[in-house]
Amino acid sequence: MAQVKVLVFDVDDTLYEELTFVKSGFRAVAHFLEEKYVLPSEKVYEQFVAELEKGREKIFDTVLQQYDLNSKGLVRKCLSVYRRHKPEIFLYEDAARFLKKFESFPIYLVTDGNPTVQQNKVDALLFQNRIKKAFLTGRFGVKNAKPSPYCFEKIKLLENVAPEEIVYVGDNPNKDFVGIKPLGFRTVRMLRGQYKDLRLDKEHEAEIEIRNFDELADILQLDFMET
Ligand SMILES: [Mg+2]
Repeated sequence: MAQVKVLVFDVDDTLYEELTFVKSGFRAVAHFLEEKYVLPSEKVYEQFVAELEKGREKIFDTVLQQYDLNSKGLVRKCLSVYRRHKPEIFLYEDAARFLKKFESFPIYLVTDGNPTVQQNKVDALLFQNRIKKAFLTGRFGVKNAKPSPYCFEKIKLLENVAPEEIVYVGDNPNKDFVGIKPLGFRTVRMLRGQYKDLRLDKEHEAEIEIRNFDELADILQLDFMET
């Protein structure tokens, strides 16, 4: 990856563990329910976590039902508390190390999902001074979310570089690489999170796989020495 000049990262399960965000949100909702309905916050939190293990659907509905509090309005309120809360989340240690080491590079983020939620994550991870811009694809409409190359093309124009000079690091082979690879962008798959063991066809897989950012640092530096 000798000619890489611009580093672009996915956020969830690439730079930090997404599960820690979900749990942080559960805590916020449990505290809200304690204040408003005197529910036992710790127990409610444990119930959310137990439901999560069964799947991500209807978690608030199911737990509220156990307290005879299930209503569309309250579920919506819980979702809103979850989405707006200021999360307690932290960069993976190796990610923080990598960002420090490569701080002279232009660094961008491209992340899908609810833009309010994603902005809260970016703020919580204390990136402000380290990244040039966070592209929250949710702000550009559904059709411009990954796998669309829309935000990546914007980065290319901003930096005035070729796609071959931009590398994207992500963890989800369903959508992180398939749209940008044919255009010449370089791709790196972080083997972390819920997609870690997922194997797809060649079009969906990245050019390189890593298990942590120290490996990426080695790959980038090795190539610099060769040039
Ligand atoms: Mg991700």
